Amino acid sequence: MSFNIAIDGPAGAGKSTVAKRIAKKLGILYLDTGAMYRGVAYYMLNLGVAPDDEAGVCRHLDAIDMNVVYREGEQKVLINGNDVTPFIRTQEIGMAASTVSKIPAVRLKLVELQRIIARHTDCVLDGRDIGSYVLPDADLKIFLTASAEERAKRRMTELEQKGQKDVDYNKILSEIQQRDQQDSTRSFAPLVVAEGAILLDTTRMNIDQVEEHILSLCKF
Ligand code: C5P
Repeated sequence: MSFNIAIDGPAGAGKSTVAKRIAKKLGILYLDTGAMYRGVAYYMLNLGVAPDDEAGVCRHLDAIDMNVVYREGEQKVLINGNDVTPFIRTQEIGMAASTVSKIPAVRLKLVELQRIIARHTDCVLDGRDIGSYVLPDADLKIFLTASAEERAKRRMTELEQKGQKDVDYNKILSEIQQRDQQDSTRSFAPLVVAEGAILLDTTRMNIDQVEEHILSLCKF
C-alpha cells in the first residue's frame, strides 16, 4: 500500500514549495495537481475556448490525453505527448485554471489520474481538494494557509525572482482574492478544510519552520 500526504490550501500559501521539500526529505514523489488544471486551461485557451464555456470545454475534453512524467526529478505535464509545463505558470493561466476547474467533468478526469498515481506511488500531493475529495483516507492531511496579503507578498517576490518586471502587488492581491472566492464557493469539491486535516497558518512562519512542523507530523 502506498502512503500519501495531502497538502491543500489557497493560492500562494506555499504548498508547492513545502510539498517539494517534504517529498525530497522523505524520498517520495511530489505531485502538483494544480499543474494538471493549468494544463487543461492552457490547452483550452490555445484552442480559443473560454475557460467558462462549459459546453465548449466539455466538447474538447475527451481529446486531451494527459500524462504526468518526471524528468530529472521535475514534474512535467504532457498533453497529447506535448510538454506544456513551460507555459502554465503565469497569473493568467492560474486564473483560467481556477475557472476551468469549476467544471465537474474536468475535475473527474483529473481526479481519476491523481488517484491512479497516488494508489501506486508514495507521494505528497498538493491542491485544493486532495484531503477532502481525491484522497479522503490520506495518511496525513494538512491545510496550509496564510493571510491574503502575505500570500500576495510571497507571490510578488516569487515573480520578481523569476525576473518578471512591473509586478503589481494590488493586482496580485485582487487575483488571489478572486481565486480564493472561486475555489471555495464552487459547488463540486470546493476548497475546504478537510475532515481530519491539520490547519497550519503560515502567515508568521518561514518555510523552514513549516517544513519542520509537517515533518514532525509524519510518523509513519
Ligand atoms: O495550485 P495552483 O495555483 O497551480 O492551481 C491552479 C488552480 O487549479 C487553482 O486556483 C484551483 O482552482 C485549481 N485546482 C483545483 N484543485 C486542485 C488543484 C488546483 O481546483 N487539486
